[in-house]
Amino acid sequence: MATGKINVSVDNIFPLIKKFLYSDHEIFLRELISNATDATLKLKHIASTGEAKVEYGNPIIEIKVDKEGKKIHITDQGLGMTEDEVKKYINEIAFSGAEEFLDKYKDSAKDSGIIGHFGLGFYSSFMVAEKVDIITKSYKDEPAVQWTCDGSPNFTLKKSKKETRGTEIVLHIAEDSTEFLEDNRITELLTKYNKFMPIPIKFGTKTETLPKPEGAKEEDPAPTQEVDNFVNNPNPAWTKQPAELKEEDYKGFYRELYPMQFEEPLFHIHLNVDYPFNLTGILYFPKLSNDLNIQKDRIQLYQNQVFVTDNVEGIVPEFLTMLRGVIDSPDIPLNVSRSYLQADGAVKKISSYISRKVADKLASTFKNNREDFEAKWNDIKIVIEYGMLSDDKFFEKADKFALYPTVDGNFYTFEELQEKLKANHTDKDDKLVVLYASDKEAQHSYIEAAKAKGLEVLLLDSPIISHLMQKIETSKEKLSFARVDADHLDNLIKKDDTQISKLSDEEKDSLKVNLEEAIQSKGYTIQLEAMDSTASPFIITEPEFMRRMKEMQQSGGGGGMFGMSNMPEMYNLIVNTNHELVGEILNTKTAKKRERLINQSLDLARLSKGLLKGEELTGFIKRSYEMIK
Ligand code: ADP
Ligand code: MG
Repeated sequence: MATGKINVSVDNIFPLIKKFLYSDHEIFLRELISNATDATLKLKHIASTGEAKVEYGNPIIEIKVDKEGKKIHITDQGLGMTEDEVKKYINEIAFSGAEEFLDKYKDSAKDSGIIGHFGLGFYSSFMVAEKVDIITKSYKDEPAVQWTCDGSPNFTLKKSKKETRGTEIVLHIAEDSTEFLEDNRITELLTKYNKFMPIPIKFGTKTETLPKPEGAKEEDPAPTQEVDNFVNNPNPAWTKQPAELKEEDYKGFYRELYPMQFEEPLFHIHLNVDYPFNLTGILYFPKLSNDLNIQKDRIQLYQNQVFVTDNVEGIVPEFLTMLRGVIDSPDIPLNVSRSYLQADGAVKKISSYISRKVADKLASTFKNNREDFEAKWNDIKIVIEYGMLSDDKFFEKADKFALYPTVDGNFYTFEELQEKLKANHTDKDDKLVVLYASDKEAQHSYIEAAKAKGLEVLLLDSPIISHLMQKIETSKEKLSFARVDADHLDNLIKKDDTQISKLSDEEKDSLKVNLEEAIQSKGYTIQLEAMDSTASPFIITEPEFMRRMKEMQQSGGGGGMFGMSNMPEMYNLIVNTNHELVGEILNTKTAKKRERLINQSLDLARLSKGLLKGEELTGFIKRSYEMIK
């Protein structure tokens, strides 16, 4: 038996590594299975090139937990190592990798910059084991060897009786890591990190029910048998060519990724590039609720089918982190901090590639099946609108397929919308005014009023829409959005100059005085308008910019930075001088009765705008009952 000293200057790496990697001990299993996979794929390669005369067969990787013996075994049937190779790859290379790592992070660490997944490789076994054996036999005709080390720089190397090709790693689990001796914990790790690795991974057995034999009785139990339990799908959908896959396969893979999701995805996008970087993957548009905070199942990042993380921030454009699916790239540097990642050129290219691919897919879906696209719009608009808001290149592309639904269920693209509105949606400055409602129920009376004027009303109700409108307004000249209950509405209605006021100028003056006296100090700007006699007598509107600022503030956007946390309430009261009730107000002789009429009308207008609440609402209802008694 040979003993030796591993050539490292750090005396005892073991406790140091443990300290640095505290939160991430579980990655040891991923690292060891990755090594086993590499060794098997290397064997496959040399067998296929004829470099070595070996039978490749159907190799598997097996994980065994020996709870009593406090050991975990990871066994592969890969190419194995000779004694010299162990000395070279384990003693020199694996350990020097660990040392280099420590050198680099000794001071900076305390986990600040390190993202946790740095592929420390073989050495990570010492995070959970107090002693590690490597029992290995090379495919070359050389005797098997056993290497043993307790994490100190001292190792032993001796001949072994192992007869089959491959490597067995034995972890003697440390007292503080016995959680990893639980089958459940290992299953959890295998599911998290190894679900799609390319070599079959066996962990224990499972009971399989067999069909009942011919002539079996109803009450006879079905026969069962114990079969090997494999934990992974070695050929996940994203590793295949899009042409090999049908719609059903994509849906099936979604269920495989997210077994707890019962809702089907809306579309998938198959990513497949090999220049200037390597990237494969499948992204899915899930059905999203308007609540952006519920987002449990996230995009998973893999490196050659090994799970790395489900925090793809920086790699996928932010607006697309709402999607689901898988990205696999050997080119994403994993051993670096997030801030470095965001500055990395390759990563930036990946991010803009993904954004472009998503835009292209949406554009082609829109083109090929507009009806289907319209039907899905409500569920995908959040992502698209968010993308348009945050990514100018995406905005340019999406401008051609982003939809603007009307309250009556028509869908227009921006271009179609402009065409449609040209006729009667311009205001006195010749600006195109896009009328919209954000809540069909709450703004019902305003929607009806606009429709009665022959105006088109959009239904724009996503939480970030006010930010997007702001952006569209700045990028398109002579266009503005106005909610149906905003003051722009008056301009559009005013254009309708076929209406002549029934009141003389003196009557108007006296009406205005009456109104001001009755309503005083309630902060309304009173405007008299000659409208159709069937339109409401009193209408309350709110300046569009005011309301939008308030909204943007609430949704956490730009508004807050102008320090407008206490914006005043500002409303206009539009009084329809052609309405019968307004004539009555004017002709009422007693001041008391007139005031009652005005205040009751004002409250009705406030009710219709949703402004009448609490004590005032209670008072109004009480008063109304009195009146009809
Ligand atoms: P890496 O995998 O990044 O090369 P590791 O520290 O994980 O670094 O492994 C170091 C080296 O040890 C590997 O490159 C490989 O040569 C050898 N090795 C590790 N595990 C095995 C194994 N199961 N079979 C054969 N060789 C192995
Ligand atoms: Mg490795």
